[in-house]
Amino acid sequence: MDTHSHAAVVGAGPVGCLTALSLAARGFTVSIYERRPDPRHHQIGSGSRDNASAPRSINLAISARGLKALSSVNVETDRNMADVVLSHAVPMRARMIHTKDEGQGVKQMSQAYGLNGECINSVSRTLLNDLLLDQASAHPAVSLHFNCKLRSVDLQAREKDPQAEGECHLNFESWEGSGPASRYSALVVGCDGINSIVRSTIARLTPVNFQQEYIDSSYLELRIPPKIEDGAATFALDPNHLHIWPRHSFMLIALANLDKSFTSTLFAPQAIIGRLTSRGAILEFFANEFPDALKLMGDEDVVATLLPRQGKGSPLSSVKCYPYHYKGRAVFLGDAAHAMLPFYGQGLNCGFEDVGFLTNLIDKHGVRGDPGQSVGSGKSVQGEKEENAWDRYSPLLAQAFTEYSKERHPDLIAISYLATQNYHEMSSRVVSPLYLIRKSLDGLLMKTLPKGWWISLYSMVTFSPEIGYAEAKKREARQSVIIERVLVASGLAAMTGLGLAGRWLLKNRRDLW
Ligand code: FAD
Repeated sequence: MDTHSHAAVVGAGPVGCLTALSLAARGFTVSIYERRPDPRHHQIGSGSRDNASAPRSINLAISARGLKALSSVNVETDRNMADVVLSHAVPMRARMIHTKDEGQGVKQMSQAYGLNGECINSVSRTLLNDLLLDQASAHPAVSLHFNCKLRSVDLQAREKDPQAEGECHLNFESWEGSGPASRYSALVVGCDGINSIVRSTIARLTPVNFQQEYIDSSYLELRIPPKIEDGAATFALDPNHLHIWPRHSFMLIALANLDKSFTSTLFAPQAIIGRLTSRGAILEFFANEFPDALKLMGDEDVVATLLPRQGKGSPLSSVKCYPYHYKGRAVFLGDAAHAMLPFYGQGLNCGFEDVGFLTNLIDKHGVRGDPGQSVGSGKSVQGEKEENAWDRYSPLLAQAFTEYSKERHPDLIAISYLATQNYHEMSSRVVSPLYLIRKSLDGLLMKTLPKGWWISLYSMVTFSPEIGYAEAKKREARQSVIIERVLVASGLAAMTGLGLAGRWLLKNRRDLW
């Protein structure tokens, strides 16, 4: 069994699939191990290819960082993975804020995401995963093993036994006869999500700082079905907006699907979600807080979706850790390394960006799965035995992984912080007058100053992959100080103006009256 150029990717989620494709493009033989059955044969969601009802799936907003990473995978001569994903996505150019003002009913307010028509893209997570799985299974160097759960991994197999077939030894629990019981591999990449086994294994061998924080809010998914007009299905809301119903401590959002439905998510504290346990309570809550959305969803559908949940939402937590690797043998990416709150729409974008960040470092150190084809600084020796080449590559890979942990960490901490902050922005600040003034000033400065001098935080995070998350956060801090000074100065100027006007009025009051 060839283990010298073998990479084991744990988890066939979107990050695992992109990792496998990226490593295969660098000459590795890759196996993906996934504990679940093949989702392409099992589930049918609102955004899936089968397009029927049944289990609902979250929509994701994919933006520039995710698309940049996806574009590195070529599908055909003139198409890459980003093109494929975009052909299944609905562009969203703005937020649509649905306010509820006492006595004034429901109002809608559109807030553009960018000055030049930039958009984020709504795509079903299920469909996105299916598309990546299709590419992975079509690749000759990638094999997929479903129903194959990683139980444990020994990252010191060769240290313990020099005759071992590989550096790492993976043990699986597999069923339906689809996966191996164990496998040796040169390299393990953990893309196994928030409860990563690869991460916890590494943490037993080397100190890993780890923090998981839950917030009081959880989420519930709902659906806005297509509207039928003259016998044809149309969108019930403008599909090119991300719809938000901000209500301070909770909010509802909706993103369009290709089948003209919307996937809607309620984010709320347990104190609210916990009360949604009867038909009456559910309908009363929606009628009071989201009357326009309730009309579009339909009473029966809302009750049928929420009643079985009996006041239990899906929890939301973020994970921070450091480092993200063990020697040149194992590394973990995506939610395994940095699950974050979903409020900046960056969790997966960041996970895809991880893959690009890591493979750039692998290239920089000239490591390839096919040793004869070395790139970068790795000295290629034609005809060198793979086994010897891998001994030479292993320290180079360790260097690449060490740099990955060090250089990627500030970005991951920054985006996790920004994702948490954005919860407050989406649920309440979007309607505050100060936020709207700040946003207008941001727009004005972006428009009037020379290109690149002033970029709003949202644009840096969402549309500017060339600016790292940490750099974006730093630039925003500087910009905020300037904006605050401008606002204070304008306030002072306004107050001085009012004062002078007052004095003038007092002085001339006899003439006026
Ligand atoms: P996962 O998707 O969790 O995949 C991990 C895979 O590993 C799974 O298939 C799992 O079955 C498998 N696995 C786990 N353990 C094992 C094991 N022991 N053996 C074998 N296989 C295993 N991100 C965005 O970019 N934009 C958004 O708009 C956005 N919206 C979101 C909205 C919500 C409500 C939520 C909850 C998240 C959102 N995200 C968004 C975040 C995004 O969903 C995640 O960041 C992304 O799915 C992470 O991908 P992943 O491949 O790292 O992990």
